Amino acid sequence: MRAVRLVQVRKPLEEADIPIPDIGSFDVLIRVAAAGICHSDAHYRAGISRIDNLPLTLGHEIAGRVEEIGSDVAHVLAGDRVCVHYLVSCGSCEFCVRGLEQFCRSGQMIGKHRDGGYAEFINVPVANAFPLPDEIPFEAGAIMMCSSATALHALNKTRFKAGEAIAIFGFGGLGFSALQLARAFDCGDVYVVEINPAKLASAATMGAIAIDARAADPVEQIKDATAGGGVDVALELIGSAKTMRQAVLCLARLGRAALVGLTAESMSIHPYTELINKEAEIIGVSDHLAAELPALIEFVRSGKLRFPPETLRVVALDADQINAALDALQDSIDHVRTVIVPRV
Ligand SMILES: [Zn+2]
Ligand SMILES: [Zn+2]
Repeated sequence: MRAVRLVQVRKPLEEADIPIPDIGSFDVLIRVAAAGICHSDAHYRAGISRIDNLPLTLGHEIAGRVEEIGSDVAHVLAGDRVCVHYLVSCGSCEFCVRGLEQFCRSGQMIGKHRDGGYAEFINVPVANAFPLPDEIPFEAGAIMMCSSATALHALNKTRFKAGEAIAIFGFGGLGFSALQLARAFDCGDVYVVEINPAKLASAATMGAIAIDARAADPVEQIKDATAGGGVDVALELIGSAKTMRQAVLCLARLGRAALVGLTAESMSIHPYTELINKEAEIIGVSDHLAAELPALIEFVRSGKLRFPPETLRVVALDADQINAALDALQDSIDHVRTVIVPRV
């Protein structure tokens, strides 16, 4: 089969002809119909996030049709439409048995620790294959399995409830899903904090109150807009100590700030005035859980979480096209996601 693989870091991905993977008794072989090209793939290629076993087929946002099932697989049939949960876990360690498989002792990420979806076929444990309803195109079924799933996990971690006001710091892929999901939860006012005018405009069209962080302190702007009260929930999706601190400072009493963006910087908080007397909470968010995916899939099926056609661009399973898409990701400022469709 054809696959596009990372052979050497800081070098373009290469096309290879490799055997169709064998499947174990609890695996399914999926014919890839769509594979999202993600920012983390650009980081793997650039050597920013380390990959130990090369060559490796990248791609962790995958949807397709089941081609073949292992001998012990029940409830999934050849021909079924599926989307893939990218974390393969053991199912039996102390974390897995509690449904916290993101901490699995022997967890493997598809497209990082084992071959991913930049290929014609992929084998995954059947537990990682989720039914993809006919209403969801394969392209959306692929890209929803990463940033959208993490945005949902962030909202779940904050125990977000209907009617609550929320501030979203950063309107990239995570923010684009977080805003729609917050609305699907019947949120109160949504504030989107950004410095990019195009993103602010797009957030406003999608029903958010745009907070231009270049114009004035976003915390002051949110406090003014909420009569001094602040928001119930803040999501930091950028990965900067400055915006993390702002996310905490704009909280109301009993507010929860979820930190999702990655940074090596330290943040400072004045415990008494900024946290303790409001009983505010700061919550770390990492990845998402298999248990959350059926709800996510239903939000997309019902149209509450949408990926309009103008936000999707399709490329073939072709090394040049994929490398160019990875190059473009480095400095993209729009919401357009590139999806590999092998048959194009
Ligand atoms: Zn991703
Ligand atoms: Zn485990």
